[in-house]
Amino acid sequence: MAYKITLVPGDGTGPELAEVTAKVVEATGVKIDWEIAHAGIDIMEKEGTPLPESTLKSIAKNKVALKGPITTPIGTGFRSVNVAIRKELDLYSCLRPCKTYVGVKSKYNNIDLVIVRENTEDLYAGVEYPENSEEANKIIEISNGKIRKESAISIKPMSVFGCERIVRFAFDHAVKHNRKKVTAVTKANIMKYTDGLFYKVAREVAKEFEGKIEYEERLIDNMCMQLVQKPELYDVIVLPNLYGDILSDLCAGLVGGLGVAPGANHGKDCAVFEAVHGSAPKYKGLNKVNPTALILSAKLMLEHIGEIEASKRLEKAVSDVIAEKKQVTYDLGGTAGTREMGQAIIDKLK
Ligand code: NAD
Repeated sequence: MAYKITLVPGDGTGPELAEVTAKVVEATGVKIDWEIAHAGIDIMEKEGTPLPESTLKSIAKNKVALKGPITTPIGTGFRSVNVAIRKELDLYSCLRPCKTYVGVKSKYNNIDLVIVRENTEDLYAGVEYPENSEEANKIIEISNGKIRKESAISIKPMSVFGCERIVRFAFDHAVKHNRKKVTAVTKANIMKYTDGLFYKVAREVAKEFEGKIEYEERLIDNMCMQLVQKPELYDVIVLPNLYGDILSDLCAGLVGGLGVAPGANHGKDCAVFEAVHGSAPKYKGLNKVNPTALILSAKLMLEHIGEIEASKRLEKAVSDVIAEKKQVTYDLGGTAGTREMGQAIIDKLK
């Protein structure tokens, strides 16, 4: 029986990447009945909203989606559709594997780590007050002289619930994928209550996995240096939202950049698989950008639905094509287009 999965082509280079990726997935032999659902600036022109209700409904119903990148229009008043999808479906975990592939230019050749970023709390919660607002002034008053007058204020909420579910996700992921260690990263020496809570909760969860998964802690500043100097020491890294945002881009850089960085957003009920990169609008319709990041996101999707063998074959096909360097896109030093690189991957799967 075919899996029913929502396919959101997105905008900019999204539709061409999604088309190639769907064909590559088909070539693994896994039967998928794609339900196409739109989001982004193209559908906004037709329907007046960049995120139609029907798209959210489709993802909620099918529980799994593959999504192309979506532009965040500047100055139109629309918030990011990508953030809206994560919020509406409570996709609390952002998973970003970072792995070196032979043929991708990088200073390292032995990285294989996974970033697990909390997606709903922390300074990203959007609780902010401008300078001189009533709310900001109230907070200044109760701060007992710790906050200067005329300060703008962002609040950093971190809950026991939010910390626990993300740390548990990281440990469960480690067990499921045969990984050995989880590293929790914060700045708890300075933010004793918020980041301190993250550690407190993480230590409790870690006890349940004692003997199976090693647990360690790092401070975010030190972690940045460690990752640049010895990234091979790390396995699964779990972090609150803001540190996770920054560290996942650092790690994408370590393994050769955006063209090869896949991602997944998981919630209790749904999962949305998407590349780390954006819609690269200047390349729209040019058949130019690298499909690897979205294809590797589809590989994560296959794993998620239990098609482990197909996901392994897909990853091998991608890494073989990259290593051969014959049919690769401009960012990997080649001249192939999106479709040609996709076709080379399909040929490997035959
Ligand atoms: P971007 O990731 O779209 O592109 C930046 C540059 O990276 C491109 O110009 C290109 O040189 C390179 N690049 C990106 N993807 C590539 C690929 N697959 N192959 C080869 N090269 C690639 O970042 P941006 O220009 O800052 O953002 C464009 C739009 O995308 C913005 O509106 C932004 O908000 C949005 N965005 C969406 C998502 C998402 O859909 N999840 C993520 C990030 C940014």
